[in-house]
Parts: sequence; structure tokens; C-alpha cells
Amino acid sequence: MARIVFLGTGGGRHTAMFQARSTGGMVLEDSGTRINVDPGPGALTNMMRIGFSPYATDAVVVTHCHPDHYSDAEVLVEGMCRGGMRRRGALCGSVTVLDGGHGYVSCLSPYHQRLPQERHVLTPGDSVTIGGIRMDATESDHGDPTTVGLRFHTSGGVVSFVGDTGYSDEIARQHVGSRVLVLPVTTPDDERIHHHLCTEDAVEFVKIVKPDLAVFVHLGLLMLSVGPDEQARGVEESTGVRCVAGEDLMEITLGNSISISTMPVRGGGWNRDWVF
Ligand SMILES: [Zn+2]
Ligand SMILES: [Zn+2]
Repeated sequence: MARIVFLGTGGGRHTAMFQARSTGGMVLEDSGTRINVDPGPGALTNMMRIGFSPYATDAVVVTHCHPDHYSDAEVLVEGMCRGGMRRRGALCGSVTVLDGGHGYVSCLSPYHQRLPQERHVLTPGDSVTIGGIRMDATESDHGDPTTVGLRFHTSGGVVSFVGDTGYSDEIARQHVGSRVLVLPVTTPDDERIHHHLCTEDAVEFVKIVKPDLAVFVHLGLLMLSVGPDEQARGVEESTGVRCVAGEDLMEITLGNSISISTMPVRGGGWNRDWVF
């Protein structure tokens, strides 16, 4: 069964620097394939807390070249490739993530980019298949102009991971048909900041996409201070679509119905999975 686990539901530079929420992105699993999306600060720490071995990662996908989305990516690639001993897995990223440009240098070294078996530069319209999961890249309107959003075709329906973006009807329309819409709602109410979504934008986005479930992530400090649960409830009331504010370590399974739970955290100490 397909499932999503959020390693972090914070976003933006201030949430990331204070780790007011983790900024570790999400894991998507389906039929034995595990994909890490946007492993920013906190991804590896939270993987260890829930017993997710980096060895079990089959792909690392980075939507754009901002550190709240990529800072753990090199270490995770080393894990995916068994400490660099085995060429395996896929590394996918926007143009800036892998090649740099537009004022950015690539956020993974040439060494790390050579470790995986596959390397894919994603531009809107591209599709890559990883272990049977097709992933489409969509367009965004963000500070990094090469930012992509993602649509994953899972056995439980389409999961959209909307890249950091400002609002437009066109950007929202790319995600029509999604069963679960993971939406980066950085700020509350109408507190719009350039190249990001606020709650008012989320209403329009959700009205266009009409998913079974919308999950708000990439929560900024102002959003966290006013209460993301209440903001999500407001969007649900305006749209009639089930909306929740993401929580770190939230798990969503996509069966006949969609269920939401929290991953159990295990104790510390030596772990016998730590073989090398
Ligand atoms: Zn961000
Ligand atoms: Zn960004």
C-alpha cells in the first residue's frame, strides 16, 4: 500500500534555522520502493527516530536549490549508495540542484552526483519512473526559477508534492486529478510573500484541484505562531475538501480510504541495523 511519511513539515529560512519544525521533507513508499523528497535539515535525524534506514532509500529527489530542501541530500545519497560502496538508486533534481546556474551552484558535489546509478535533471513536463512509480515534474513560480513540483502515480492514486511556488490558476491546474495534495502553505490568511503560498491562495488551489485530502506543509514561523490547524480548518470549510495541517512524523496511507496516523518513535542507543 502506498504511504507518505513527513520527515518535516516546516519550511522557509526562519523555520529551518530555528528548527521550529523539522524541515526534512517527505518519504513516499509504494510496493517496496522508497523515495525521499526534499531532504532538508532534520531529514536524517527523523529517519533514525522512526527506524528508516538510509540504505533502504531508492531515490533522492530535490525540487530546488534552497537549503531547507537539500541540506541532508549528500549524506542521504551516501546512505542510499551504502556509504558510496554500491552504485544504486536514483538522484533527481531541478537544473540548479544538479547543474547550478541562476546564481546557484549545484547543491550536491560532482562526487555525490556520480554515486547513484541514475541521475535525472528535472524540468517541467519530464517524467521519470523509479521502481514502478512514475513521477512527473510540474512548473513552479519561485525564487529559484528552475523549481519543479512533482506528481507521483502510486497504487493508491496520484500524490502531488507542490514545489515552493507563488499562486496562479495555471500552476494549480497541473495538479488536477491528485488524490492527495501536499501543499506548501508558508504563511497564514492573506499574508502573501512573493513566490510562496498563503492560506488565501490555498483556498483557490484546493478549489481547482479538488483532492480527497490536502496537507499543508512548509509551514513558516508566522503560520506556526497563529496555528496551522485552524488555518487548515478554515480552508476545509471554504472548499468542502478535507484539509489538515501536516505534523512531523505524520503518516498517511492510501488504501480504499485515506488514513492519518503518527509514526512511533523508537528509543536511542545502539541499533543493530547499523551494519556497514
Ligand atoms: Zn522552502
Ligand atoms: Zn524555496
